[in-house]
Amino acid sequence: MAESNAEARSLNFLEEIVEEDLKSGKNKTILTRFPPEPNGYLHIGHAKSICLNFGLALEYGGKTNLRFDDTNPVKEETEYVESIIEDVKWLGFNPDKILYASDYFEQLYEFAVKLIKKGLAYVDDSSSEEIASQKGTPTEPGEANKYRNRSVEENLQLFREMRSGIYEDGEKVLRAKIDMGSPNMHMRDPIIYRIKKAHHHRTGNDWFIYPMYDFAHGQSDSIEHITHSICTLEFISHRPLYDWFIEKLEIFPSRQYEFARLNLTFTIMSKRKLLQLVNEKYVDSWDDPRMPTISGLRRRGYTPESIRNFTDRIGVQKRDNLIDVSLLEFCLREDLNKNALRKMVVFDPLKIVITNYPEQVEMMTTEDYPEAGEKSSKREIPFSRELYIEKEDFMENPPKKFFRLAPGKSVRLKSAYIIQCEQVIKDNQGNITELHCIYFPESKSGNDASGLKVQGTLHWVSKAHAIPVELRLYDRLFKVENPAMEEGDFKDYINPDSLEINRHALAEPSLANAKFNERYQFMRKAYFCLDKDSSEEKIIFNRTVSLKDGWAKEVKKG
Ligand code: ATP
Ligand code: MG
Repeated sequence: MAESNAEARSLNFLEEIVEEDLKSGKNKTILTRFPPEPNGYLHIGHAKSICLNFGLALEYGGKTNLRFDDTNPVKEETEYVESIIEDVKWLGFNPDKILYASDYFEQLYEFAVKLIKKGLAYVDDSSSEEIASQKGTPTEPGEANKYRNRSVEENLQLFREMRSGIYEDGEKVLRAKIDMGSPNMHMRDPIIYRIKKAHHHRTGNDWFIYPMYDFAHGQSDSIEHITHSICTLEFISHRPLYDWFIEKLEIFPSRQYEFARLNLTFTIMSKRKLLQLVNEKYVDSWDDPRMPTISGLRRRGYTPESIRNFTDRIGVQKRDNLIDVSLLEFCLREDLNKNALRKMVVFDPLKIVITNYPEQVEMMTTEDYPEAGEKSSKREIPFSRELYIEKEDFMENPPKKFFRLAPGKSVRLKSAYIIQCEQVIKDNQGNITELHCIYFPESKSGNDASGLKVQGTLHWVSKAHAIPVELRLYDRLFKVENPAMEEGDFKDYINPDSLEINRHALAEPSLANAKFNERYQFMRKAYFCLDKDSSEEKIIFNRTVSLKDGWAKEVKKG
């Protein structure tokens, strides 16, 4: 999928690097990886990283591993691992291998021993507060403590003891011995192992010590022979450390490259904050259709194509930026416009009786995909004497430019007849209860010999055949463009109207057989998909995205 796109646009900086490395013979083939920490569900920002890593490899005949950076036993869970694998596959990518940093724990331990033996790591007994205070500031150098001069033998002994579990959490750490005066804070003897007596989702209770991210990530890349290790900008300052470990351990030289993380308007992109929304019940679950998670977007009705297309369109930047969510919605509409089945659903029913129509049912033929023209498949919908139209499509005293139904006025019913409103029926309180209309038998769609001209086309359902459906109308989860940057708690900016439920909508009968993998356009309304809570007793649709002005064109065609 990436090939055609690469031709159409100029190369991004990562493609340039890869091409150069292949041309110069530095790499014979490329191997990338997507390295999530299984401490939450993936979000659209991760989708950017997935498409980038897998896309690059596909483009240049390489491969991509999915590797879980599971070095923190406290926050990680199997549920997250499973959801991540599912999301990557759903996006359309096949990992060459599915791997875990925890598979390398023994090897990483050996790497640490190697550093100790080279005099490049030491066990420090200081508390975390002491270590922090000795670290200095960006403008002042840090200071070495007395543990820094421990002998290799003593360090080996203590590190072995740390592993054996005789010390408690926080009692000791293993640090790389680099440079307490380095202008780069990450090089001031970073902690590489800590004691954590916690159960790990894969290694169980085998380990009492766990490697820090910086000591696991680059080494895992190296063990797998990853050629291009692509991560987000916040890791630029970690790169010297990444390279230092590779050099000192004399292992395969993976190289790290950084790009700008994706930020989107009207949402947040941090697993920690998304977890808060779930735990504090602002949303129902990680896959709540309002969430920017891949599972939330999937449930909302997003297609993998639209997400891939979006990440491709925004390109790869070296500077942080905020992308307008309407671009994501644009890519979605573009896909759905082609691939969503058209259906008729009346959201707010108003009954009409066609007084000159016989007591019978007539099947009307209509297109499933109007965009495909003649090639579109077709379906039949029942038409009868009593129908429902949308309340808002009728006005008793319409303004000049109202092209829908009004007393004495005519409209076409989509794929059926032209009707004219003859009489407005009201209850005692003056509320309109139904309309009496007549139809023109000569005006049938596709075979119209009436010569009548109308300006509006309405969607409708037959009263006797319509099925009740629940519509979940989702809106943006936040009221402000950039909730993470607002003052105070990001949760203060949640949109209180992000979900409205319509329980009185009536749908054309074919939707009784709606399928989870199908996408629908409820004509003149919005795009919808079947929700996973849906059952035969209660059919539930999620609003994926509005049509915007898309429907105007559709309506004119009749
Ligand atoms: P978060 O900050 O949302 O919790 P994270 O960076 O901690 O995300 P990881 O599981 O470590 O999550 O991320 C896996 C990969 O996805 C990393 O390479 C990371 O750089 C990348 N990634 C995470 N967020 C984004 C984003 N918003 N845009 C692009 N890439 C991202
Ligand atoms: Mg991370």
